[in-house]
Amino acid sequence: MDHPNETPTVATISSLPNELLAAIAAAGREDRVQWALSHVSHRFQTVMVGTPELWAFVQVDFRSEGSVKILQLYLQRSQTCPISATLQHRSSLDQASEDLIVERLAQIIRHINRISWLRIEVGNLGAEFLLAPFRDLTALNLEHLEVVNLIRYQWGPIELFSCGAPGLRFLKLYHQKLQYPPPQWVASLTHLELRHHRRGIALDATLGQCSMLVHLFLDLSFTKLERRARLPFLKSLFLVVPWAEDDFDLLATVTVFDTPSLAECAIDGVHGDQIFDLLSATSPADVSFPALTAFSFVNTHTCPCERNMTFPDMASPPSFQLFPALSSLSLVNICFSANLLKGVAVPTSDAWPVLGTAALSPRVDAFEGVRDVVLDAMHAHRLHGLRFPTFRLSPAFLNFEDWQEHSIDVKSFEPADVIQFFRSC
Ligand SMILES: [Zn+2]
Repeated sequence: MDHPNETPTVATISSLPNELLAAIAAAGREDRVQWALSHVSHRFQTVMVGTPELWAFVQVDFRSEGSVKILQLYLQRSQTCPISATLQHRSSLDQASEDLIVERLAQIIRHINRISWLRIEVGNLGAEFLLAPFRDLTALNLEHLEVVNLIRYQWGPIELFSCGAPGLRFLKLYHQKLQYPPPQWVASLTHLELRHHRRGIALDATLGQCSMLVHLFLDLSFTKLERRARLPFLKSLFLVVPWAEDDFDLLATVTVFDTPSLAECAIDGVHGDQIFDLLSATSPADVSFPALTAFSFVNTHTCPCERNMTFPDMASPPSFQLFPALSSLSLVNICFSANLLKGVAVPTSDAWPVLGTAALSPRVDAFEGVRDVVLDAMHAHRLHGLRFPTFRLSPAFLNFEDWQEHSIDVKSFEPADVIQFFRSC
């Protein structure tokens, strides 16, 4: 019930000091809260307009005059603040509109040394001219750069910031080739994502210069590394491999990396038998991943292997020789999951390698087989006095069985989170 003496809500907000008001708006600046708050009162508007940080997230579509007008407003109100900018162009072009776009683009180019975070989205054929103005620039404060080619047409590699980007640490390219020889600034990158690359990329030579990388995402669907890639600080590695290529060599693909600090690896496009071979590999002897604790295998495609092939005979369990520290294994939509899991999770002796966690998202037609292996694993662990691993199951597989009835404590995990990482642009 309303109390007659209670201060109305609007009055309560209005009584906030300017600094707090600005802080509230800053917390929601990516949702453009400042626009709504500007309309509350004249004082609110003064505070919003006078707080440059609120105008530092810029998103512009150069085909739209209105969007460019708003860009001008943001550039003015953000004063000297570092800017995060997303630049888009998604409509078809004639020469006249191309000239107009170049002119509009120049407005933000003038502020290049304020930009710390930049994403350029090119969404129509012939629009690579959008990237040209960035070729010979220096970007003094740029830390994060994404170039996304949404039409997926592969034009030639383009140079970016050839005069220097000394603070650049993050580079993501999507359907876009990295120039070769690479710019000097690749030497200080800590994060590199090369998504949807086609042939004709000097990957070996480029990675040879990226020695500071901590995170690497590589699409090897159409290209491969020939030389060993020494990345001493690399902690996480994400690979996409050609899932439909019969003679694809997963072992050779993984062991080309010389990454002594690698803690986490995820690969999309693999099959159950390849994973088993990889975990069983004993050679080459000079290769090891001593720090690798988590390995995730995903197949975002659906392969017909289980209908057309038989799983290789398991004479002995996988040795985990290349991965002595491995404690967490994730299998998402992998063929032969039941056979593979039997090899890695059902102990045959009390000197069994210790698998701490298994995250499972089997295909629906494999639910029964994988369920049986989990139950076998539980019995075998009890028999050998071993600590039972933690099973994390996809929601559908979790609901497939009453796990509590078997006294198995299972947890849930969301496979879409893993899959999404490989699909995002
Ligand atoms: Zn398969």
